[in-house]
Amino acid sequence: MTSTDLEPRVITLGTAGGPRWWGSGEPITRTGIATAIQVGDEFYLVDCGHGVGRRINEAGLSLKNLRGVFITHLHSDHTVDLASLAIFGLYEMVGREGAPVPIIGPGDRGALPPLSPRAVVPPRPVAPECPTPGTARMFATLMAAHATDLNDRVLDSLRPSPLDLFDARDIEIPAGIAYHPNDRPTPAMEPFEIFRDDLVTVTATLVEHPPIAPAFAFRFDTAAGSVTISGDTAPTQNLVRLARDTDLLLHEAIDFAFVESVYAGRADEGSRASRDHHYKSHTSVGDAARLAAEAGARQLALHHLVPGTAKDDVWRAAARDFPGAFHVPDDLDVLPVRSPVPVDAS
Ligand SMILES: [Zn+2]
Ligand SMILES: [Zn+2]
Repeated sequence: MTSTDLEPRVITLGTAGGPRWWGSGEPITRTGIATAIQVGDEFYLVDCGHGVGRRINEAGLSLKNLRGVFITHLHSDHTVDLASLAIFGLYEMVGREGAPVPIIGPGDRGALPPLSPRAVVPPRPVAPECPTPGTARMFATLMAAHATDLNDRVLDSLRPSPLDLFDARDIEIPAGIAYHPNDRPTPAMEPFEIFRDDLVTVTATLVEHPPIAPAFAFRFDTAAGSVTISGDTAPTQNLVRLARDTDLLLHEAIDFAFVESVYAGRADEGSRASRDHHYKSHTSVGDAARLAAEAGARQLALHHLVPGTAKDDVWRAAARDFPGAFHVPDDLDVLPVRSPVPVDAS
């Protein structure tokens, strides 16, 4: 294979953010956040938002070629179709039992988040016996919840078990950076390696997405270009450091005018707490462009768009703040990493 064949391509499988379907009676155009990075015939998957399996199928990708699943953080809009990927996917993955696909994501949070000062009555946590599971435990629990179905397939149809096809692992946060999920979720740090094979090296950094912690951004370096994915985050220098001179940065963006319109006139504490969350945990369109420029990214694509129903001009406003190639990809767009085709030049 030539180095051109090994130039990575990004396929934006799902480009909407948030635990919503974003339809409201209209056909859904943006499904849940999920991104494929294809190198040669192989691909790597970042996040498993709603519809990821369908989009993989529509993109013409096969799970036979899946090298790894990377989860930026454990919010449900990034994980909700992890179970369906593993369970429906086992039909495409027969024969891969000897080399399970890693699922790499955050470890156990270690402590519940602090109670909102807006709480009137303290809510009861879900699953108090294990209230903050990490990726490995989450995956095992998801498979256990589907045991009736899976045992039919494993025992009667002699299908492989997802537990033999996938190997879910927690990312270990480097020692010595004084990380704490509540007090210091995003200490300044150098990117650290979380995965390597013959095609890619994946590095990570902590990003700013309270109260969830840890939350990661990932960078994929290959012999023929690099891709950086912000995960969900407020503006942070850790991301700028990770994305330094990257060929393509995919950054989340939220339309704060939309946030204000949703919560305007709603004075209840639940609405106020939700509004506060968006401001401390996400990035505006303009800030995404400025951070990408500061990092020296050659291309910027906005994704994890909230709301998933906004008109494109909401996002394109950022183009004036970014000097490189700028994209607002639809679901299933293909972004070459080094020889960009202006997919959205209209
Ligand atoms: Zn999200
Ligand atoms: Zn999130």
